[in-house]
Amino acid sequence: MSEICTRIEAVRTRIRTAAQATGRKPETVGLVAVGKTFPAAAIRAAWACGQRAFGENYVDEFAGKAAELADLDIEWHFIGHLQSNKTRKVAALAHWVHGIDRLSVAERLDRQRPPELPPLQVCLQVNISGETSKSGVAPETATALAQAVIALPRLHLRGLMALPAPDNDPTVQRAAFARVRTLKDALVDAGITLDTLSMGMSGDLDAAVAEGATLVRIGTAIFGSRA
Ligand SMILES: *Cc1c(COP(=O)(O)O)cnc(C)c1O
Repeated sequence: MSEICTRIEAVRTRIRTAAQATGRKPETVGLVAVGKTFPAAAIRAAWACGQRAFGENYVDEFAGKAAELADLDIEWHFIGHLQSNKTRKVAALAHWVHGIDRLSVAERLDRQRPPELPPLQVCLQVNISGETSKSGVAPETATALAQAVIALPRLHLRGLMALPAPDNDPTVQRAAFARVRTLKDALVDAGITLDTLSMGMSGDLDAAVAEGATLVRIGTAIFGSRA
């Protein structure tokens, strides 16, 4: 087995252990392998281990890899901050976009999604307290943004994405992810259909799975540390 296959297997074991410890079914947690800064060959190697969902952060790097790997049946997740002037490529190449934090970007993606493709799957990035980046919609405005996104025919709103500040304490990690889950539950109670919680990275995926993550986005634990 290649090194990458061994690492993916180890990540899957972490997911399984965390799910079972909290009474969840491991198969309800999807794994997005985040290949940013790594060459297309690394993604091809992970694909050969059976991995199909891949995440990228930077639009131009993403577009280059998507072209290089066009022969593979990859499900592409754009997980980075999306600038308005870069939406067209993402609308054409991605299956999922996780970082929707304002309506203007959602509207552009909706307009630019090629008609022959199915609707783009999207998550709203929420900024619960203690987030690393300033991106993300405030919890108070998440409902309004969700309702506006639902009205866009070429987007399919799936859930929430969060990027809490890194913290080594599992209790702190879980508290942050619990806030995201609580917000999702509140949106569902308000009548908004959501089935996805995109949260958890290499350092905190166990806590994220314990708090209900349905997609974890894992880079370092699969591809190694980035330069
Ligand atoms: C880089 C990145 C990841 C993966 O992080 P690792 O710590 O390398 O697992 C996940 N999500 C987002 C939004 C990222 O930018």
